[in-house]
Amino acid sequence: MGNKHTPGPWAVAAFNVHQVIAIHDGPNEKGQTFMDGKHQHTVCTTSDEYDKGRFEEQSANAKLIALVPEMLAALQAQETAENKNANCPDCDGIGDWAECGRCSELFGDAIDLRHAVLLKVPA
Ligand SMILES: [Zn+2]
Repeated sequence: MGNKHTPGPWAVAAFNVHQVIAIHDGPNEKGQTFMDGKHQHTVCTTSDEYDKGRFEEQSANAKLIALVPEMLAALQAQETAENKNANCPDCDGIGDWAECGRCSELFGDAIDLRHAVLLKVPA
C-alpha cells in the first residue's frame, strides 16, 4: 500500500480555521512548529466561502480532517499488532494477547495511539 498523500503532521491553520495544512518544518528539537505560511502548505479547506451559519461545523471538520495522519497511524498499529499476534513466536496468537508480553506491548501501543487521537476529536 503506497502512501501518495501528503505526509503528516497536519494541523488547522492558525489564521483560517477552515484550512487544513501540512507542516513542512516541525516540530523542531524544541517541539515548535511553524504555522506562519512559510513552513506549510494547504491540504484542503472545508469551506470556500464564509458561511456564518456553518462556521463551527466547518471548523470542526477541519480539525477532524487534520487528524487523518494520526488516525492512519493508529489503524496501522492495530493492523500490525493483529498480524504479529497471529504469527507470534511466544503465543502463536492463541489465547488472550494481554497475557503475552510481546503481543501486549504491540496492542498497548495501538490502543495508546487510538486513545490519543480520540482525545483530539472535536466535540
Ligand atoms: Zn504473542
